[in-house]
Amino acid sequence: MNDSISHGTGSIGSGAAEMPPLVDPARMGGAARPAASSKPSAPAVPTGDHDRVSEPIPFTRTEASSARDTVDAPLPGAPAEVKLGPTGRPMPVLPEPKPVSSHGPARVIAMCNQKGGVGKTTTTINLGAALAEYGRKVLLVDFDPQGSLSVGLGLNPHDMELSIYNLLMERDVTLDEVVVPSGVPGMDLLPSNIDLSAAEVQLVHEVAREQTLARILAPAGKDYDVILIDCQPSLGLLTVNALTASDGVIVPLECEYFALRGVALLKTTIDKVTERLNPRLTIDGVLGTMYDGRTLHGREVMERLVQAWGDTVFHTVIRRTVKFSDSTVAGEPITTYAGSSAGAEAYRQLAREVLARCLDG
Ligand code: ADP
Ligand code: MG
Repeated sequence: MNDSISHGTGSIGSGAAEMPPLVDPARMGGAARPAASSKPSAPAVPTGDHDRVSEPIPFTRTEASSARDTVDAPLPGAPAEVKLGPTGRPMPVLPEPKPVSSHGPARVIAMCNQKGGVGKTTTTINLGAALAEYGRKVLLVDFDPQGSLSVGLGLNPHDMELSIYNLLMERDVTLDEVVVPSGVPGMDLLPSNIDLSAAEVQLVHEVAREQTLARILAPAGKDYDVILIDCQPSLGLLTVNALTASDGVIVPLECEYFALRGVALLKTTIDKVTERLNPRLTIDGVLGTMYDGRTLHGREVMERLVQAWGDTVFHTVIRRTVKFSDSTVAGEPITTYAGSSAGAEAYRQLAREVLARCLDG
């Protein structure tokens, strides 16, 4: 594999070596194999363990998993009194977040997966909106030249006087000049459009090119509680900038077999950025999206995700529903477009999980 961390755009491998790494269940204290454990709070798996074993694991149906071909059936051997969540692990009680009276310093979280259409933008908008509902001050950063985040919040890409491109490339432009309200109280947006694709080319010639986004976001840290960066679907220089500017990464993964491919490459990129550019970077969580618990396939992919990533996988999963596309057309988050829908509730639950895991803890 190429040793450079800027791979250019779009090269998603399909070899078996890029299947997600498998964490040895024997070292996971039962966390990855909830069916065999009756302990509701098995120890968490340290994120650093993922690259220890990177053998691909066969995706064959076990008798146990085939037997569970009913709607969200519990895993065999699970004690009846323990309520298992959709990831097959006991569902923790996620506390109602406490109101905050002041804001900052912000935790910067990159929404990252080099595959397109896995729910990065949807998660950025809706997790942001749910965190804002809980009283957190949120800044969303559109760091994809496609500008889907900006469009998804009702902005017209052709009407933008200033975008994140100007902030990256022009020293005299300030953050305050570019940030716009998102339409959701407590949530702002740094918009982008196709101009950003030029920045990727121009940044190559800059000094400290990987630190450019970190530099321009630094002044925002004191005003916000969370800054969410919506990455483009590649592992190129823009994504390396996003990872260098971040404290944590959330990896949205479509619950579909092919979506698991390429995750090892993403993990390698994250590791290289951690080693060379940003030692504070951690993986905050892997989020299963577009989940369909009615199909055996959906549940098998989920089972495998938990095998490979252990407790890094969020207990919250986002189910497949057309309401997300509808809310994008309406230019608003699902939390306001269909506030009492299951999708809105799922993102509120994710917000509580993110708060408990890495913001309030
Ligand atoms: P990415 O940013 O990773 O490319 P998006 O968030 O833009 O992915 O999602 C791709 C498409 O899938 C969009 O049309 C979006 O509305 C839709 N989508 C996202 N999440 C879900 C979901 N849970 N169920 C159904 N459709 C979804
Ligand atoms: Mg996107």
